[in-house]
Amino acid sequence: MQESHQAQYRYPFIKPASSFSPPSSSASSQAQTGGEPAYDYIIVGGGTAGCPLAATLSRNYTVLLLERGGTPFANANVSFMRNFHISLADISEKSASQMFISTDGVFNSRARVLGGGTCINAGFYSRASASFIKKVGWDAELVNESYPWIEKQIVYQPQLPPWQKAVRDGLIEAGISPFNGFTYDHKYGTKVGGTIFDRFGRRHTAAELLASANPEKLHVLVHATVQKIEFDTTGKTPKAVGVIFKDENGVTHRATLSKRSGSEIIVSSGAIGSPQLLLLSGIGPKTELEKFNISVVLDNEFVGKDMADNPLNTIFVPTNGPVKQSLIQTVGITKLGVYIEASSGFGQSSDSIHWDHGIASAEIGQLSTIPPKQRTHEAIHHYRKSKRNLPHEAFMGGFILEKIAMPLSKGQISLINTNIDDNPSITFNYFSHPSDVARCVDGIRIIEKIVQSKHFANFTKFDKKTTDKLLNMSVQANVNLLPKHTNDTKSLEQFCKDTVITIWHYHGGCHVGKVVDSDYKVLGVERLRVIDGSTFYDSPGTNPQATVMMMGRSADFIVTSSRVVDDDGTLEVGGGGGGKTGQGMSGCNCVNVALISATKSAIDHGSQPRLVHVLVALESALLAFFAHRNCSLMFPALVPVAAKICVEDGPNTHVSTPPPKSLA
Ligand SMILES: Cc1cc2nc3c(=O)[nH]c(=O)nc-3n(C[C@H](O)[C@H](O)[C@H](O)COP(=O)(O)OP(=O)(O)OC[C@H]3O[C@@H](n4cnc5c(N)ncnc54)[C@H](O)[C@@H]3O)c2cc1C
Repeated sequence: MQESHQAQYRYPFIKPASSFSPPSSSASSQAQTGGEPAYDYIIVGGGTAGCPLAATLSRNYTVLLLERGGTPFANANVSFMRNFHISLADISEKSASQMFISTDGVFNSRARVLGGGTCINAGFYSRASASFIKKVGWDAELVNESYPWIEKQIVYQPQLPPWQKAVRDGLIEAGISPFNGFTYDHKYGTKVGGTIFDRFGRRHTAAELLASANPEKLHVLVHATVQKIEFDTTGKTPKAVGVIFKDENGVTHRATLSKRSGSEIIVSSGAIGSPQLLLLSGIGPKTELEKFNISVVLDNEFVGKDMADNPLNTIFVPTNGPVKQSLIQTVGITKLGVYIEASSGFGQSSDSIHWDHGIASAEIGQLSTIPPKQRTHEAIHHYRKSKRNLPHEAFMGGFILEKIAMPLSKGQISLINTNIDDNPSITFNYFSHPSDVARCVDGIRIIEKIVQSKHFANFTKFDKKTTDKLLNMSVQANVNLLPKHTNDTKSLEQFCKDTVITIWHYHGGCHVGKVVDSDYKVLGVERLRVIDGSTFYDSPGTNPQATVMMMGRSADFIVTSSRVVDDDGTLEVGGGGGGKTGQGMSGCNCVNVALISATKSAIDHGSQPRLVHVLVALESALLAFFAHRNCSLMFPALVPVAAKICVEDGPNTHVSTPPPKSLA
């Protein structure tokens, strides 16, 4: 019992939500509020962004991380690649994945577990392009320091099984070149990317990044579902003060922010969860909130708007022999705005043939005998029961996938009710923009070339089936609730629209400039930020998880930069950074925070006695800089500014501080 408890919780700072109790813990701030524990940061959502962010912030600040799901550590559905489909097909309340069907009629899933999407995803790891980083305005050097922090801990080079090799060679033969070998970088051509599965097929998740946390300053509560963010609305601007969450027994608790300046609630609940929580907390379109009797804290029509999901279309290729299971390992990055990937087989444990492998699994591909309109969840359940009588050959084959890089078709989420456990109404409007349809057709044509390529055909030996036959089979293989048309194999446009499924890269809903500012602070309120995939206008790279984790890691800098001077005027130098490597961010932050502090201090307190503080801060900044030569100076411009102010140092000196170079 003791052992299984240990396996489940792994780190001493992870506890069930019901254990939440008033103070005296070392992880709660000394600044208490009304006898309750109070934290420098409360992070809502222990997912792909939330875990690295919590780990990094806890180096210097007290952090409470609240995650609605359980832990991933002793969950076999999460831990093993062979259970990828099974985990998605598990629609029980305890499942690490929560299924939803968008109003478009496409089955989809969102994570509900510590580690978030990294616990249920296909594991492919690939960085964002340099142009993406530039477009969102992130500091390239900071980004390049943050990716390796993740890669050293949980990312691996995959060993390619024959299916992936055949697709890789087929891609090159189809002209998606050059071959860039194994790389995390986003480059045109064909490449092999990283994976969070090790060579034993064991998954490593964002929850493992918590190993880098300061255990004295971090509290992680699982089965802690945040229902609402609370605001103090007595001042001019509403100010977030805490959250209400319920534990695994349904008992509600209040967690409170410290009164120290700079303390914040950070929402990292994912592209569905973050806008949903803002809406339920009173931030969103007034008319929508009033429909559900939610008190309006801030009227913002953009919350939940401009959501997008990258549409996925697949071609199912049956094989004559069994194919080893593989998820995404190789990718073709085309100049047409389409990415090509592949998956094959299914989990091959002795009895797994009797299990439900869900949508986009090989057996669904080969055996989708249920007419499309009738493919309800109940029908699939029935199908699962009857499939034990099917011949073994039916379970062989794989998919070649094509997805649109930056879909122009946009949708939205809106509330259905006020229950945070329920999915909101989600619409993506797949292929409503003609350019998305055109790119899908380009993608299918590339897949046709791959299937006909010498390398791939040699491998599959699929007996003279025409591409038409494959398309026909694929109409059946892509399970969604959309009506099918008779010309599906004649018109590739129609094929794209009718067979659309998801690659689960949905994003948006809390856009920069609309819902949050360029520092991810929620516009119009204080002490609240959103940091996760809901802030993206486009999904980064070929697959987003690398960049979402990197964002969590590097956001520490932007979050802590703004708390340079505490309420009592003392400097808080050295915020953030650290982690397993103990390099990079911590040193840079130290330098940069000290520099900002020096400048701010000089501007705010341009009187003689304060000159001492400024000089001390500048000196510590320079010392830190020389100790971390590799670190980029984020604010080089501030050095002369600060120095000038120090020299001139008069009570009436007014110099406008350049805005911090932010991450977005
Ligand atoms: C099946 C699947 C396959 C995928 N395959 C890949 C892939 O191969 N490669 C890749 O790069 N990307 C892949 N992705 C996408 C990628 O995993 C996600 O884009 C990414 O994980 C999203 O990160 P996030 O931090 O925005 O949200 P999440 O990781 O989903 O984190 C949000 C967290 O918040 C929690 N939460 C939500 N609401 C609340 C609340 N009210 N209170 C408390 N907690 C809350 C959730 O339980 C969750 O843990 C896949 C996704 C899925 C679902």
